[in-house]
Amino acid sequence: MLPAVLQGAFSGARGSLLLCRGCLGSVGADAVAGLCARCWRGLVPLAEDRCPRCALVHADGDCPDPTAWACGDALWDYHGGRPPLGALLLPGLKAGERGWRRALLARVAVVALPDWAASVDQVTAVPSTLPHRLLRGFDFGAELGTLLAGRLGRPFELLLSKAWRSGRQATRTETQRRRLPRKAITLRRGAKPAGVVLLVDDVWTTGTTLLRCAQALRAGGAEEVRVLTLFRAL
Ligand SMILES: [Zn+2]
Ligand SMILES: [Zn+2]
Repeated sequence: MLPAVLQGAFSGARGSLLLCRGCLGSVGADAVAGLCARCWRGLVPLAEDRCPRCALVHADGDCPDPTAWACGDALWDYHGGRPPLGALLLPGLKAGERGWRRALLARVAVVALPDWAASVDQVTAVPSTLPHRLLRGFDFGAELGTLLAGRLGRPFELLLSKAWRSGRQATRTETQRRRLPRKAITLRRGAKPAGVVLLVDDVWTTGTTLLRCAQALRAGGAEEVRVLTLFRAL
């Protein structure tokens, strides 16, 4: 007889549903992609009184976040659920977990979106690097952006690219090292951002990558950038 934890691991590998892959509890017929209904309820909306710009709650009301956008939000709390569902799902997605990806996109297809999303002109996604796309076999950001663009009736376009860093950082001067992150995200050749651009990503943590993307979009001609991610972490 195997310990319960190992049974869960093996049942997950075979695709049968003996134990939940999240909480390792028993699963019923309502399990989706190996996760029980209770685990899926870990897709918890953010606090109602969150900041409209950084999606966090500020005790004093003033947003300290120097973001390049006025509207920023996320669909769910990364730490929602027990175990936290965002922290379970996203590493799985990065490892190429297709069942979780389909199940998550099915929820994105029906979840309520911020009112301001309806007035964007086009949708784009935070870019992934080619090695990452090859490793996973799909570009989750592009799938997410395409789905949201379809819901909003706006075009989706990959406007940004992320450089696969060349050269060893240790060989660079301090100034070059500091400049590198800003230069890692650029407009794709021929991309022409215009009007209000909705930038989407899977998770928003410090926001540095989102900020770099927003800056590149603004520099490339976007009038305004708005940010929407699946999860907000911090
Ligand atoms: Zn569970
Ligand atoms: Zn704020």
